[in-house]
Amino acid sequence: MRKIILLVLIPVFLAACGPDSQETTKQVEVADTLLTNGKIYTVNPQQPWTEAVAIKDGKYSYVGDSVGAATYVGEGTQIVDLQGKMAMPGINDAHVHPVMGAVRSLYHCQFPIQSNPDEVAHALRGCVEKNPDSQWIIGGQWGSAFFEQYEIESPRAWLDAITGDIAVVLNDDSYHNTWFNSKALELAGISHSTLDPEGGSIGRDADGVPNGLLFETASRMGGKAVPDWSAEQYVAAVKEVLRMAAAFGITGIKDAGAYESAAMVAYHDVDNNHGGLSVHLAASIRTQYGHRTEPLDVSELERIRDRYASNHLATNFVKIFLDGVPTPARTAAMLDPYLHDDVHGDQFTGNLHVPLETLAKDLIALDANGFTVKMHAAGDRSVRVGLDAIEAAREANGFSGLRHELAHAGYIHPDDVPRFAALDAVADISPILWHPSPIIGAIVSALGRRGELYFPVRDLLDSNALVVAGTDWPAVTPSANPWGGIEALVSRRDPTGVTEGQLWAEQAVTLEEALRIYTLNGALALRLGEVTGSVEVGKSADFIVLDRNLFEVPIDDVGETEVTMTFFEGRLLESREGEVPAAQ
Ligand SMILES: [Zn+2]
Repeated sequence: MRKIILLVLIPVFLAACGPDSQETTKQVEVADTLLTNGKIYTVNPQQPWTEAVAIKDGKYSYVGDSVGAATYVGEGTQIVDLQGKMAMPGINDAHVHPVMGAVRSLYHCQFPIQSNPDEVAHALRGCVEKNPDSQWIIGGQWGSAFFEQYEIESPRAWLDAITGDIAVVLNDDSYHNTWFNSKALELAGISHSTLDPEGGSIGRDADGVPNGLLFETASRMGGKAVPDWSAEQYVAAVKEVLRMAAAFGITGIKDAGAYESAAMVAYHDVDNNHGGLSVHLAASIRTQYGHRTEPLDVSELERIRDRYASNHLATNFVKIFLDGVPTPARTAAMLDPYLHDDVHGDQFTGNLHVPLETLAKDLIALDANGFTVKMHAAGDRSVRVGLDAIEAAREANGFSGLRHELAHAGYIHPDDVPRFAALDAVADISPILWHPSPIIGAIVSALGRRGELYFPVRDLLDSNALVVAGTDWPAVTPSANPWGGIEALVSRRDPTGVTEGQLWAEQAVTLEEALRIYTLNGALALRLGEVTGSVEVGKSADFIVLDRNLFEVPIDDVGETEVTMTFFEGRLLESREGEVPAAQ
Protein backbone atom coordinates (compact mmCIF):
# COMPACT_ATOMS: atom_id res chain seq x y z
CA MET A 1 0.00 0.00 0.00
CA ARG A 2 2.76 2.39 1.00
CA LYS A 3 4.51 1.60 -2.24
CA ILE A 4 1.49 2.63 -4.32
CA ILE A 5 1.27 5.96 -2.63
CA LEU A 6 4.95 6.64 -3.31
CA LEU A 7 4.75 5.65 -6.95
CA VAL A 8 1.33 6.73 -8.05
CA LEU A 9 -0.26 9.16 -5.70
CA ILE A 10 1.36 12.55 -5.73
CA PRO A 11 0.20 14.74 -2.87
CA VAL A 12 -0.06 18.29 -4.07
CA PHE A 13 0.76 21.16 -1.78
CA LEU A 14 -0.32 24.57 -2.92
CA ALA A 15 2.70 26.84 -3.22
CA ALA A 16 0.82 29.83 -1.97
CA CYS A 17 -2.52 30.19 -0.30
CA GLY A 18 -3.12 33.83 -1.05
CA PRO A 19 -6.60 35.39 -1.28
CA ASP A 20 -6.86 34.41 -4.99
CA SER A 21 -6.43 30.70 -4.43
CA GLN A 22 -8.88 30.87 -1.53
CA GLU A 23 -11.35 32.29 -4.04
CA THR A 24 -10.73 29.39 -6.43
CA THR A 25 -11.21 26.73 -3.79
CA LYS A 26 -14.52 28.27 -2.81
CA GLN A 27 -15.92 27.77 -6.32
CA VAL A 28 -15.10 24.08 -6.58
CA GLU A 29 -14.64 21.72 -3.70
CA VAL A 30 -11.07 20.52 -3.40
CA ALA A 31 -10.95 16.83 -4.30
CA ASP A 32 -9.59 14.15 -2.01
CA THR A 33 -8.46 12.20 -5.03
CA LEU A 34 -8.15 13.03 -8.71
CA LEU A 35 -7.85 10.32 -11.36
CA THR A 36 -6.72 11.89 -14.57
CA ASN A 37 -5.46 11.19 -18.07
CA GLY A 38 -7.40 7.93 -18.45
CA LYS A 39 -9.79 6.36 -20.90
CA ILE A 40 -12.74 6.09 -18.60
CA TYR A 41 -15.77 4.13 -19.79
CA THR A 42 -18.61 5.52 -17.69
CA VAL A 43 -21.62 3.31 -18.61
CA ASN A 44 -23.52 6.60 -18.75
CA PRO A 45 -24.96 6.93 -22.29
CA GLN A 46 -24.95 10.76 -21.97
CA GLN A 47 -21.17 10.76 -21.62
CA PRO A 48 -19.83 7.28 -22.46
CA TRP A 49 -16.13 8.16 -22.35
CA THR A 50 -14.20 10.67 -20.33
CA GLU A 51 -10.65 11.37 -19.11
CA ALA A 52 -10.81 12.29 -15.46
CA VAL A 53 -12.80 12.15 -12.26
CA ALA A 54 -12.54 14.05 -9.00
CA ILE A 55 -13.57 12.28 -5.80
CA LYS A 56 -14.73 14.00 -2.61
CA ASP A 57 -15.97 12.12 0.48
CA GLY A 58 -16.16 8.87 -1.47
CA LYS A 59 -18.28 10.27 -4.30
CA TYR A 60 -17.55 11.65 -7.75
CA SER A 61 -17.59 15.43 -7.59
CA TYR A 62 -16.47 15.87 -11.20
CA VAL A 63 -16.53 13.71 -14.33
CA GLY A 64 -14.98 15.23 -17.44
CA ASP A 65 -11.78 16.16 -19.22
CA SER A 66 -8.39 16.41 -17.53
CA VAL A 67 -8.22 20.19 -17.94
CA GLY A 68 -11.47 20.73 -16.05
CA ALA A 69 -10.41 18.23 -13.42
CA ALA A 70 -7.27 20.26 -12.62
CA THR A 71 -9.40 22.95 -11.00
CA TYR A 72 -10.35 20.44 -8.27
CA VAL A 73 -6.77 20.08 -7.11
CA GLY A 74 -6.00 21.64 -3.77
CA GLU A 75 -3.98 21.05 -0.65
CA GLY A 76 -3.74 17.32 0.07
CA THR A 77 -5.38 16.15 -3.15
CA GLN A 78 -3.92 12.85 -4.24
CA ILE A 79 -3.47 12.66 -7.97
CA VAL A 80 -3.43 9.39 -9.87
CA ASP A 81 -2.14 9.63 -13.43
CA LEU A 82 -3.94 6.81 -15.26
CA GLN A 83 -1.49 7.16 -18.17
CA GLY A 84 -4.09 6.37 -20.80
CA LYS A 85 -5.32 3.18 -19.11
CA MET A 86 -8.94 2.11 -19.40
CA ALA A 87 -11.03 2.53 -16.28
CA MET A 88 -14.71 1.89 -15.60
CA PRO A 89 -17.25 1.43 -12.80
CA GLY A 90 -16.67 -1.54 -10.48
CA ILE A 91 -18.35 -4.85 -11.29
CA ASN A 92 -21.59 -5.78 -9.52
CA ASP A 93 -22.03 -9.54 -9.33
CA ALA A 94 -25.77 -10.12 -8.99
CA HIS A 95 -25.63 -13.82 -8.18
CA VAL A 96 -22.85 -15.39 -6.17
CA HIS A 97 -22.48 -17.49 -3.01
CA PRO A 98 -19.38 -15.75 -1.70
CA VAL A 99 -19.11 -17.23 1.78
CA MET A 100 -19.68 -20.73 0.44
CA GLY A 101 -16.99 -20.06 -2.17
CA ALA A 102 -14.47 -18.68 0.29
CA VAL A 103 -15.12 -21.51 2.75
CA ARG A 104 -14.39 -23.88 -0.09
CA SER A 105 -11.16 -22.22 -1.11
CA LEU A 106 -9.96 -21.88 2.49
CA TYR A 107 -11.08 -25.13 4.11
CA HIS A 108 -12.16 -27.72 1.53
CA CYS A 109 -10.39 -30.65 -0.06
CA GLN A 110 -10.48 -29.46 -3.65
CA PHE A 111 -10.26 -31.06 -7.07
CA PRO A 112 -11.28 -29.60 -10.46
CA ILE A 113 -14.78 -30.39 -11.78
CA GLN A 114 -13.35 -32.25 -14.77
CA SER A 115 -11.34 -34.63 -12.56
CA ASN A 116 -11.39 -38.33 -13.40
CA PRO A 117 -11.50 -40.98 -10.63
CA ASP A 118 -7.70 -41.17 -10.41
CA GLU A 119 -7.46 -37.42 -9.92
CA VAL A 120 -10.19 -37.43 -7.26
CA ALA A 121 -8.39 -40.26 -5.43
CA HIS A 122 -5.09 -38.39 -5.65
CA ALA A 123 -6.61 -35.21 -4.19
CA LEU A 124 -8.25 -37.14 -1.35
CA ARG A 125 -5.03 -38.95 -0.45
CA GLY A 126 -3.27 -35.58 -0.31
CA CYS A 127 -5.93 -34.19 2.04
CA VAL A 128 -5.76 -37.23 4.34
CA GLU A 129 -1.98 -36.91 4.47
CA LYS A 130 -2.20 -33.22 5.33
CA ASN A 131 -4.75 -33.72 8.12
CA PRO A 132 -4.42 -37.33 9.29
CA ASP A 133 -6.31 -36.61 12.53
CA SER A 134 -9.34 -34.90 11.01
CA GLN A 135 -12.65 -36.65 11.48
CA TRP A 136 -14.22 -35.19 8.37
CA ILE A 137 -13.06 -34.37 4.87
CA ILE A 138 -15.37 -31.95 3.12
CA GLY A 139 -14.68 -31.13 -0.49
CA GLY A 140 -15.48 -31.35 -4.17
CA GLN A 141 -16.57 -30.85 -6.82
CA TRP A 142 -17.32 -33.85 -8.97
CA GLY A 143 -18.86 -33.30 -12.39
CA SER A 144 -22.59 -33.86 -12.90
CA ALA A 145 -21.87 -36.63 -15.40
CA PHE A 146 -19.11 -38.27 -13.31
CA PHE A 147 -21.01 -41.45 -12.48
CA GLU A 148 -22.28 -41.82 -16.04
CA GLN A 149 -18.81 -41.34 -17.43
CA TYR A 150 -17.00 -43.69 -15.06
CA GLU A 151 -18.19 -47.05 -13.87
CA ILE A 152 -17.99 -47.08 -10.07
CA GLU A 153 -20.00 -49.93 -8.63
CA SER A 154 -20.33 -48.56 -5.12
CA PRO A 155 -19.44 -44.86 -4.78
CA ARG A 156 -19.47 -45.28 -0.99
CA ALA A 157 -17.05 -48.22 -0.94
CA TRP A 158 -14.82 -46.53 -3.50
CA LEU A 159 -14.28 -43.66 -1.04
CA ASP A 160 -13.87 -46.04 1.93
CA ALA A 161 -10.93 -47.66 0.20
CA ILE A 162 -9.12 -44.31 0.09
CA THR A 163 -10.05 -42.62 3.35
CA GLY A 164 -10.82 -45.50 5.68
CA ASP A 165 -12.69 -44.39 8.76
CA ILE A 166 -12.53 -40.63 8.09
CA ALA A 167 -15.99 -39.34 7.12
CA VAL A 168 -16.01 -37.90 3.59
CA VAL A 169 -18.57 -35.61 1.96
CA LEU A 170 -17.99 -34.37 -1.60
CA ASN A 171 -20.21 -31.82 -3.35
CA ASP A 172 -21.06 -32.04 -7.04
CA ASP A 173 -20.60 -29.13 -9.45
CA SER A 174 -24.12 -27.81 -8.84
CA TYR A 175 -23.96 -28.09 -5.03
CA HIS A 176 -27.30 -29.87 -5.21
CA ASN A 177 -26.03 -33.43 -4.78
CA THR A 178 -23.38 -35.05 -2.59
CA TRP A 179 -21.23 -38.17 -2.39
CA PHE A 180 -20.80 -39.72 1.08
CA ASN A 181 -18.59 -42.56 2.26
CA SER A 182 -19.80 -45.20 4.74
CA LYS A 183 -18.60 -43.34 7.83
CA ALA A 184 -20.37 -40.15 6.75
CA LEU A 185 -23.59 -42.06 6.00
CA GLU A 186 -23.35 -43.68 9.43
CA LEU A 187 -22.86 -40.32 11.20
CA ALA A 188 -25.77 -38.91 9.20
CA GLY A 189 -27.93 -41.85 10.26
CA ILE A 190 -28.71 -42.81 6.67
CA SER A 191 -29.14 -46.53 6.30
CA HIS A 192 -30.98 -49.25 4.43
CA SER A 193 -34.20 -48.37 6.27
CA THR A 194 -34.07 -44.59 5.63
CA LEU A 195 -36.85 -43.51 3.28
CA ASP A 196 -36.23 -41.02 0.49
CA PRO A 197 -37.26 -37.54 1.63
CA GLU A 198 -39.77 -35.60 -0.46
CA GLY A 199 -37.95 -33.79 -3.28
CA GLY A 200 -34.86 -35.95 -3.10
CA SER A 201 -33.51 -39.46 -3.32
CA ILE A 202 -30.92 -41.71 -1.76
CA GLY A 203 -28.86 -43.61 -4.33
CA ARG A 204 -28.99 -47.35 -3.56
CA ASP A 205 -27.37 -50.56 -4.69
CA ALA A 206 -29.36 -53.60 -5.85
CA ASP A 207 -30.11 -54.59 -2.22
CA GLY A 208 -31.44 -51.15 -1.33
CA VAL A 209 -28.36 -50.21 0.68
CA PRO A 210 -27.40 -46.52 0.26
CA ASN A 211 -24.59 -46.38 -2.30
CA GLY A 212 -23.22 -43.03 -1.12
CA LEU A 213 -24.96 -40.66 -3.58
CA LEU A 214 -27.52 -38.29 -2.11
CA PHE A 215 -29.65 -36.15 -4.38
CA GLU A 216 -31.33 -32.80 -3.67
CA THR A 217 -33.22 -32.84 -0.30
CA ALA A 218 -31.55 -36.14 0.61
CA SER A 219 -28.24 -34.33 0.23
CA ARG A 220 -29.41 -31.63 2.61
CA MET A 221 -30.67 -34.26 5.04
CA GLY A 222 -27.23 -35.86 5.09
CA GLY A 223 -25.52 -32.48 5.31
CA LYS A 224 -27.04 -31.86 8.74
CA ALA A 225 -24.51 -34.26 10.25
CA VAL A 226 -21.55 -32.36 8.83
CA PRO A 227 -19.99 -30.10 11.50
CA ASP A 228 -20.34 -26.36 10.87
CA TRP A 229 -17.43 -23.93 10.70
CA SER A 230 -16.82 -21.57 13.61
CA ALA A 231 -17.82 -17.90 13.72
CA GLU A 232 -14.13 -16.97 13.38
CA GLN A 233 -13.78 -19.19 10.32
CA TYR A 234 -16.77 -17.48 8.72
CA VAL A 235 -15.33 -14.02 9.44
CA ALA A 236 -12.07 -15.13 7.84
CA ALA A 237 -14.10 -16.34 4.85
CA VAL A 238 -15.77 -12.93 4.46
CA LYS A 239 -12.36 -11.24 4.58
CA GLU A 240 -11.20 -13.63 1.85
CA VAL A 241 -14.28 -12.64 -0.20
CA LEU A 242 -13.31 -8.97 0.12
CA ARG A 243 -9.73 -9.69 -0.92
CA MET A 244 -10.89 -11.57 -4.01
CA ALA A 245 -13.48 -8.95 -4.88
CA ALA A 246 -10.82 -6.24 -4.86
CA ALA A 247 -8.53 -8.38 -7.02
CA PHE A 248 -11.27 -8.97 -9.62
CA GLY A 249 -12.62 -5.40 -9.58
CA ILE A 250 -15.90 -6.31 -7.89
CA THR A 251 -17.44 -3.53 -5.77
CA GLY A 252 -20.97 -4.92 -5.42
CA ILE A 253 -22.10 -8.41 -4.50
CA LYS A 254 -25.53 -9.98 -4.26
CA ASP A 255 -25.36 -13.08 -2.11
CA ALA A 256 -27.87 -15.37 -3.79
CA GLY A 257 -28.77 -17.28 -0.66
CA ALA A 258 -27.40 -16.15 2.70
CA TYR A 259 -27.81 -18.38 5.73
CA GLU A 260 -28.37 -16.49 8.96
CA SER A 261 -25.92 -18.51 11.08
CA ALA A 262 -23.09 -18.38 8.58
CA ALA A 263 -23.21 -15.51 6.13
CA MET A 264 -25.46 -12.91 7.81
CA VAL A 265 -23.70 -12.97 11.17
CA ALA A 266 -20.26 -12.78 9.56
CA TYR A 267 -21.15 -10.00 7.08
CA HIS A 268 -22.61 -7.94 9.90
CA ASP A 269 -19.61 -8.62 12.13
CA VAL A 270 -17.09 -7.61 9.45
CA ASP A 271 -19.06 -4.49 8.57
CA ASN A 272 -19.16 -3.34 12.18
CA ASN A 273 -16.12 -4.81 13.93
CA HIS A 274 -13.50 -5.69 11.35
CA GLY A 275 -12.92 -2.55 9.33
CA GLY A 276 -16.15 -2.62 7.30
CA LEU A 277 -17.24 -4.38 4.13
CA SER A 278 -15.37 -3.02 1.10
CA VAL A 279 -18.21 -3.92 -1.27
CA HIS A 280 -21.88 -3.05 -1.39
CA LEU A 281 -23.40 -6.29 -0.18
CA ALA A 282 -27.00 -7.35 -0.77
CA ALA A 283 -27.81 -10.57 1.05
CA SER A 284 -30.80 -12.60 -0.12
CA ILE A 285 -32.15 -14.37 2.94
CA ARG A 286 -32.18 -18.05 2.11
CA THR A 287 -35.43 -19.94 2.58
CA GLN A 288 -36.12 -23.65 2.73
CA TYR A 289 -34.97 -25.84 -0.14
CA GLY A 290 -37.34 -28.54 -1.37
CA HIS A 291 -41.04 -29.19 -1.70
CA ARG A 292 -43.26 -26.78 0.22
CA THR A 293 -46.99 -25.92 0.15
CA GLU A 294 -47.07 -23.61 3.20
CA PRO A 295 -46.41 -19.94 2.43
CA LEU A 296 -43.24 -18.41 3.90
CA ASP A 297 -43.25 -16.86 7.36
CA VAL A 298 -42.69 -13.22 6.42
CA SER A 299 -42.33 -12.06 10.04
CA GLU A 300 -39.32 -14.38 10.50
CA LEU A 301 -37.74 -12.90 7.36
CA GLU A 302 -38.39 -9.41 8.73
CA ARG A 303 -36.64 -10.37 11.96
CA ILE A 304 -33.50 -11.40 10.04
CA ARG A 305 -33.70 -8.34 7.79
CA ASP A 306 -33.93 -5.91 10.71
CA ARG A 307 -31.30 -7.60 12.82
CA TYR A 308 -28.42 -7.66 10.32
CA ALA A 309 -28.81 -4.67 8.01
CA SER A 310 -25.89 -2.29 8.40
CA ASN A 311 -23.84 0.33 6.57
CA HIS A 312 -22.76 -1.77 3.57
CA LEU A 313 -25.10 -4.70 4.11
CA ALA A 314 -28.63 -4.62 2.70
CA THR A 315 -30.86 -7.46 3.84
CA ASN A 316 -34.21 -6.72 2.19
CA PHE A 317 -33.82 -9.59 -0.27
CA VAL A 318 -35.18 -13.14 -0.18
CA LYS A 319 -34.22 -16.29 -2.08
CA ILE A 320 -36.82 -18.91 -3.01
CA PHE A 321 -36.08 -22.22 -4.74
CA LEU A 322 -38.48 -23.40 -7.43
CA ASP A 323 -36.52 -26.35 -8.77
CA GLY A 324 -33.10 -28.01 -9.14
CA VAL A 325 -30.81 -28.38 -12.16
CA PRO A 326 -31.33 -29.56 -15.78
CA THR A 327 -28.40 -32.00 -15.69
CA PRO A 328 -28.71 -35.82 -15.71
CA ALA A 329 -30.11 -35.39 -12.17
CA ARG A 330 -33.25 -34.14 -14.04
CA THR A 331 -34.38 -31.90 -11.18
CA ALA A 332 -35.19 -28.68 -13.06
CA ALA A 333 -38.90 -28.24 -13.83
CA MET A 334 -39.26 -28.29 -17.63
CA LEU A 335 -42.30 -27.72 -19.85
CA ASP A 336 -41.41 -30.70 -22.07
CA PRO A 337 -40.17 -34.09 -20.85
CA TYR A 338 -36.53 -35.00 -20.39
CA LEU A 339 -35.01 -37.65 -22.61
CA HIS A 340 -35.88 -41.17 -21.59
CA ASP A 341 -33.88 -42.84 -18.84
CA ASP A 342 -34.56 -45.99 -16.82
CA VAL A 343 -35.35 -44.19 -13.58
CA HIS A 344 -37.66 -41.47 -14.94
CA GLY A 345 -39.20 -42.97 -18.07
CA ASP A 346 -40.00 -40.75 -21.04
CA GLN A 347 -42.68 -38.41 -19.65
CA PHE A 348 -40.68 -36.91 -16.80
CA THR A 349 -40.61 -33.10 -16.63
CA GLY A 350 -38.82 -32.62 -13.30
CA ASN A 351 -40.30 -31.36 -10.04
CA LEU A 352 -41.55 -27.92 -9.15
CA HIS A 353 -40.81 -27.30 -5.46
CA VAL A 354 -43.51 -24.71 -4.78
CA PRO A 355 -46.95 -24.77 -6.44
CA LEU A 356 -48.10 -21.51 -8.03
CA GLU A 357 -50.84 -21.02 -5.44
CA THR A 358 -48.28 -20.93 -2.62
CA LEU A 359 -45.69 -18.99 -4.58
CA ALA A 360 -48.21 -16.29 -5.51
CA LYS A 361 -49.02 -15.81 -1.80
CA ASP A 362 -45.29 -15.50 -1.06
CA LEU A 363 -44.69 -12.97 -3.80
CA ILE A 364 -47.70 -10.84 -2.87
CA ALA A 365 -46.66 -10.73 0.81
CA LEU A 366 -42.93 -10.21 0.22
CA ASP A 367 -43.53 -7.52 -2.40
CA ALA A 368 -45.92 -5.70 -0.06
CA ASN A 369 -43.34 -5.85 2.75
CA GLY A 370 -40.45 -4.42 0.74
CA PHE A 371 -38.49 -7.57 -0.10
CA THR A 372 -36.99 -8.18 -3.54
CA VAL A 373 -37.31 -11.86 -4.37
CA LYS A 374 -34.79 -13.96 -6.24
CA MET A 375 -36.32 -17.23 -7.44
CA HIS A 376 -34.10 -20.14 -8.43
CA ALA A 377 -35.72 -21.15 -11.73
CA ALA A 378 -33.47 -23.39 -13.80
CA GLY A 379 -36.16 -24.91 -16.02
CA ASP A 380 -38.59 -23.20 -18.40
CA ARG A 381 -41.58 -24.42 -16.37
CA SER A 382 -40.31 -22.86 -13.16
CA VAL A 383 -39.54 -19.64 -15.07
CA ARG A 384 -43.16 -19.57 -16.24
CA VAL A 385 -44.55 -20.24 -12.76
CA GLY A 386 -42.22 -17.56 -11.31
CA LEU A 387 -43.50 -15.03 -13.85
CA ASP A 388 -47.08 -16.04 -13.01
CA ALA A 389 -46.37 -15.34 -9.33
CA ILE A 390 -44.86 -11.92 -10.11
CA GLU A 391 -47.93 -11.20 -12.20
CA ALA A 392 -50.11 -12.07 -9.20
CA ALA A 393 -48.08 -9.65 -7.05
CA ARG A 394 -48.41 -6.87 -9.63
CA GLU A 395 -52.18 -7.43 -9.79
CA ALA A 396 -52.51 -7.38 -6.00
CA ASN A 397 -50.04 -4.60 -5.15
CA GLY A 398 -49.58 -2.56 -8.33
CA PHE A 399 -45.97 -1.88 -9.28
CA SER A 400 -44.07 -1.67 -6.01
CA GLY A 401 -40.83 -0.54 -7.65
CA LEU A 402 -39.29 -3.88 -6.63
CA ARG A 403 -37.85 -5.89 -9.50
CA HIS A 404 -38.11 -9.58 -8.66
CA GLU A 405 -35.70 -11.96 -10.32
CA LEU A 406 -35.79 -15.30 -12.08
CA ALA A 407 -32.36 -16.72 -11.36
CA HIS A 408 -30.55 -18.94 -13.86
CA ALA A 409 -33.40 -18.57 -16.34
CA GLY A 410 -31.27 -20.30 -18.95
CA TYR A 411 -34.32 -21.90 -20.50
CA ILE A 412 -37.19 -19.55 -21.26
CA HIS A 413 -40.09 -20.47 -23.52
CA PRO A 414 -40.26 -17.91 -26.37
CA ASP A 415 -43.79 -16.93 -25.25
CA ASP A 416 -42.40 -15.95 -21.85
CA VAL A 417 -39.53 -13.73 -23.06
CA PRO A 418 -41.68 -10.58 -23.49
CA ARG A 419 -43.30 -11.12 -20.08
CA PHE A 420 -40.06 -10.09 -18.34
CA ALA A 421 -40.28 -6.49 -19.55
CA ALA A 422 -44.06 -6.38 -19.20
CA LEU A 423 -43.87 -7.44 -15.52
CA ASP A 424 -40.62 -5.63 -14.67
CA ALA A 425 -39.17 -9.04 -13.90
CA VAL A 426 -35.43 -9.52 -14.07
CA ALA A 427 -33.52 -12.30 -15.79
CA ASP A 428 -30.57 -13.11 -13.54
CA ILE A 429 -28.38 -15.09 -15.88
CA SER A 430 -26.01 -17.31 -13.98
CA PRO A 431 -23.76 -19.24 -13.86
CA ILE A 432 -21.51 -17.76 -16.54
CA LEU A 433 -22.14 -20.65 -18.88
CA TRP A 434 -23.31 -19.13 -22.16
CA HIS A 435 -20.58 -20.95 -24.02
CA PRO A 436 -19.74 -24.57 -24.90
CA SER A 437 -18.51 -26.61 -21.91
CA PRO A 438 -18.66 -30.18 -20.58
CA ILE A 439 -21.56 -29.07 -18.37
CA ILE A 440 -23.57 -28.09 -21.44
CA GLY A 441 -22.74 -31.57 -22.73
CA ALA A 442 -24.18 -33.09 -19.54
CA ILE A 443 -27.33 -30.97 -19.89
CA VAL A 444 -27.77 -32.01 -23.53
CA SER A 445 -27.51 -35.65 -22.46
CA ALA A 446 -30.62 -35.10 -20.32
CA LEU A 447 -32.57 -32.58 -22.42
CA GLY A 448 -31.51 -33.37 -25.96
CA ARG A 449 -30.57 -30.68 -28.48
CA ARG A 450 -32.84 -28.07 -26.90
CA GLY A 451 -30.26 -28.13 -24.09
CA GLU A 452 -28.10 -26.03 -26.39
CA LEU A 453 -30.66 -23.20 -26.47
CA TYR A 454 -29.19 -21.86 -23.27
CA PHE A 455 -29.45 -18.23 -22.13
CA PRO A 456 -31.49 -16.21 -24.66
CA VAL A 457 -29.71 -12.97 -23.70
CA ARG A 458 -30.12 -11.22 -27.10
CA ASP A 459 -33.87 -11.95 -27.13
CA LEU A 460 -34.25 -10.67 -23.57
CA LEU A 461 -32.42 -7.41 -24.29
CA ASP A 462 -34.35 -6.91 -27.53
CA SER A 463 -37.58 -7.26 -25.57
CA ASN A 464 -36.36 -4.56 -23.12
CA ALA A 465 -35.96 -6.96 -20.22
CA LEU A 466 -33.54 -6.07 -17.44
CA VAL A 467 -30.76 -8.66 -17.54
CA VAL A 468 -28.30 -9.05 -14.68
CA ALA A 469 -25.48 -11.56 -14.34
CA GLY A 470 -23.46 -13.41 -11.77
CA THR A 471 -20.82 -16.08 -11.63
CA ASP A 472 -22.87 -18.26 -9.23
CA TRP A 473 -19.47 -19.18 -7.76
CA PRO A 474 -18.75 -21.70 -6.30
CA ALA A 475 -21.53 -23.55 -8.14
CA VAL A 476 -20.29 -24.67 -11.56
CA THR A 477 -17.65 -21.97 -12.00
CA PRO A 478 -14.24 -22.50 -10.40
CA SER A 479 -13.62 -18.82 -9.66
CA ALA A 480 -15.39 -15.57 -8.78
CA ASN A 481 -13.59 -13.91 -11.70
CA PRO A 482 -16.26 -12.17 -13.82
CA TRP A 483 -14.16 -11.34 -16.88
CA GLY A 484 -14.58 -14.63 -18.71
CA GLY A 485 -18.34 -14.23 -18.43
CA ILE A 486 -18.18 -10.77 -20.00
CA GLU A 487 -16.09 -12.12 -22.87
CA ALA A 488 -18.41 -15.07 -23.49
CA LEU A 489 -21.57 -12.91 -23.50
CA VAL A 490 -20.09 -11.34 -26.63
CA SER A 491 -18.26 -14.31 -28.18
CA ARG A 492 -20.47 -17.21 -27.03
CA ARG A 493 -17.21 -19.17 -27.04
CA ASP A 494 -15.44 -20.86 -24.11
CA PRO A 495 -13.28 -18.07 -22.61
CA THR A 496 -10.75 -20.66 -21.38
CA GLY A 497 -10.40 -22.02 -24.92
CA VAL A 498 -10.79 -25.63 -23.75
CA THR A 499 -14.13 -26.51 -25.39
CA GLU A 500 -14.47 -25.77 -29.11
CA GLY A 501 -17.31 -24.06 -30.91
CA GLN A 502 -19.99 -21.48 -30.16
CA LEU A 503 -23.16 -21.89 -28.11
CA TRP A 504 -26.31 -20.39 -29.70
CA ALA A 505 -24.36 -17.65 -31.45
CA GLU A 506 -27.53 -15.68 -32.33
CA GLN A 507 -27.80 -14.69 -28.66
CA ALA A 508 -24.50 -12.79 -28.59
CA VAL A 509 -24.61 -9.24 -27.24
CA THR A 510 -22.27 -6.29 -27.77
CA LEU A 511 -19.41 -5.47 -25.41
CA GLU A 512 -21.26 -2.29 -24.37
CA GLU A 513 -24.31 -4.37 -23.44
CA ALA A 514 -22.21 -6.93 -21.57
CA LEU A 515 -20.50 -4.19 -19.52
CA ARG A 516 -23.82 -2.58 -18.70
CA ILE A 517 -25.18 -5.95 -17.52
CA TYR A 518 -22.19 -6.34 -15.20
CA THR A 519 -22.19 -2.80 -13.81
CA LEU A 520 -25.32 -0.62 -13.88
CA ASN A 521 -27.80 -3.48 -14.22
CA GLY A 522 -26.09 -5.26 -11.35
CA ALA A 523 -26.44 -2.09 -9.26
CA LEU A 524 -30.18 -2.15 -9.96
CA ALA A 525 -30.30 -5.74 -8.67
CA LEU A 526 -28.67 -4.48 -5.46
CA ARG A 527 -31.28 -1.67 -5.37
CA LEU A 528 -28.38 0.76 -5.72
CA GLY A 529 -29.07 2.07 -9.22
CA GLU A 530 -28.91 5.65 -7.95
CA VAL A 531 -25.80 4.98 -5.87
CA THR A 532 -23.32 3.06 -8.01
CA GLY A 533 -22.89 1.16 -11.30
CA SER A 534 -21.80 4.09 -13.49
CA VAL A 535 -19.34 6.95 -13.31
CA GLU A 536 -21.52 10.01 -12.70
CA VAL A 537 -21.31 13.03 -10.41
CA GLY A 538 -22.87 12.25 -7.05
CA LYS A 539 -22.44 8.48 -7.33
CA SER A 540 -20.18 6.38 -5.12
CA ALA A 541 -16.63 6.29 -6.49
CA ASP A 542 -16.52 2.54 -7.10
CA PHE A 543 -13.95 2.55 -9.81
CA ILE A 544 -11.57 0.07 -11.41
CA VAL A 545 -8.50 0.45 -13.61
CA LEU A 546 -7.74 -2.28 -16.15
CA ASP A 547 -4.52 -3.56 -17.70
CA ARG A 548 -6.03 -3.36 -21.19
CA ASN A 549 -8.61 -1.41 -23.15
CA LEU A 550 -11.48 -3.87 -23.63
CA PHE A 551 -12.56 -2.04 -26.78
CA GLU A 552 -9.13 -2.24 -28.40
CA VAL A 553 -8.16 -5.88 -27.74
CA PRO A 554 -9.66 -8.93 -29.52
CA ILE A 555 -12.77 -10.10 -27.66
CA ASP A 556 -11.00 -13.38 -26.82
CA ASP A 557 -8.55 -11.40 -24.63
CA VAL A 558 -11.23 -9.82 -22.43
CA GLY A 559 -11.43 -12.89 -20.17
CA GLU A 560 -7.79 -12.46 -19.13
CA THR A 561 -8.31 -8.87 -18.03
CA GLU A 562 -6.40 -7.96 -14.89
CA VAL A 563 -7.66 -5.23 -12.64
CA THR A 564 -4.74 -3.08 -11.52
CA MET A 565 -6.62 -0.83 -9.09
CA THR A 566 -9.97 -1.10 -7.34
CA PHE A 567 -11.46 1.90 -5.55
CA PHE A 568 -14.44 1.44 -3.25
CA GLU A 569 -16.12 4.65 -2.12
CA GLY A 570 -13.06 6.51 -3.34
CA ARG A 571 -10.65 4.38 -1.31
CA LEU A 572 -7.96 2.37 -3.08
CA LEU A 573 -8.19 -1.25 -1.92
CA GLU A 574 -5.28 -3.52 -1.37
CA SER A 575 -6.13 -6.59 -3.35
CA ARG A 576 -3.27 -9.03 -3.41
CA GLU A 577 -1.23 -10.14 -0.50
CA GLY A 578 2.44 -9.31 -1.02
CA GLU A 579 1.70 -7.90 -4.40
CA VAL A 580 1.12 -4.30 -5.30
CA PRO A 581 -0.67 -3.19 -8.46
CA ALA A 582 1.95 -2.06 -10.92
CA ALA A 583 2.42 1.67 -11.16
CA GLN A 584 3.53 2.52 -14.64
ZN1 LIG B 1 -26.82 -19.77 -7.10
